[in-house]
Amino acid sequence: MILNIMRDGEKVSYKVAQKDVTLLQLLNEIKTTQDATLSFSSDCRSSVCGSCAMRVNGKEVLACAYKPQSGDVVEPLRNVPVIRDLVVDMEKALSFNIVATTWAVCRDALSAVSPEDAVINEVQSDCILCGACYSACPVYAVNSEFIGPFALTRNWRYVSDVREDDVAGKIAAVQTNGVWDCTLCGECVPVCPQGIAPKTDIDMLRNKSNVLGYMDPKYASFGGGLDFGAPSF
Ligand code: SF4
Ligand code: SF4
Repeated sequence: MILNIMRDGEKVSYKVAQKDVTLLQLLNEIKTTQDATLSFSSDCRSSVCGSCAMRVNGKEVLACAYKPQSGDVVEPLRNVPVIRDLVVDMEKALSFNIVATTWAVCRDALSAVSPEDAVINEVQSDCILCGACYSACPVYAVNSEFIGPFALTRNWRYVSDVREDDVAGKIAAVQTNGVWDCTLCGECVPVCPQGIAPKTDIDMLRNKSNVLGYMDPKYASFGGGLDFGAPSF
């Protein structure tokens, strides 16, 4: 089987021996038997840590879960700086978790949550911060200040938590370069290895924003110059 890897903008082809194994196993084979300089990130080998996200034939995958075909072209994630080969720098993308205030503010974190309420944000809690959604997002590709899919999904995870005491603060945090900048294109949905749909969560955040008095700035500009101002809570 031939595996093609984009290294520093050049396609390098490797003949590999193992069959019916994961991409991560083939990368380890190349590194240990052919080229020790090949660089990639990995850790848990079981789709839990999110560190081995990369692209194959233009689509985001986890290397530990993807079974390669001969001729596949492997590339690093898009929209984030490449450190070397398939290793990317996620620092800026991860910093949007701070911008989006993705933590709980609750006076009674240990209060009982009904099974119905627990289901509301169960899926969002499974995000492994792999970065595949930022790689697939066309808005993040052109606006590096866009808060982005996983940070917005995490914001919704707390906004929708019945124990959250600062919903207004969390919604305020995602008004600029956030919920209204997303085009709802859905590119972030099929690439998520955890079955999360950031697009849907962002739509929910828009609805919540409307309830709290915010509106899409694009529609605000149709108001004949009226100043809609900041909402009152
Ligand atoms: S939302 Fe999905 S694709 Fe995005 S970082 Fe989390 S697990 Fe990865
Ligand atoms: S739905 Fe929004 S967050 Fe998801 S890829 Fe499209 S623009 Fe990005």
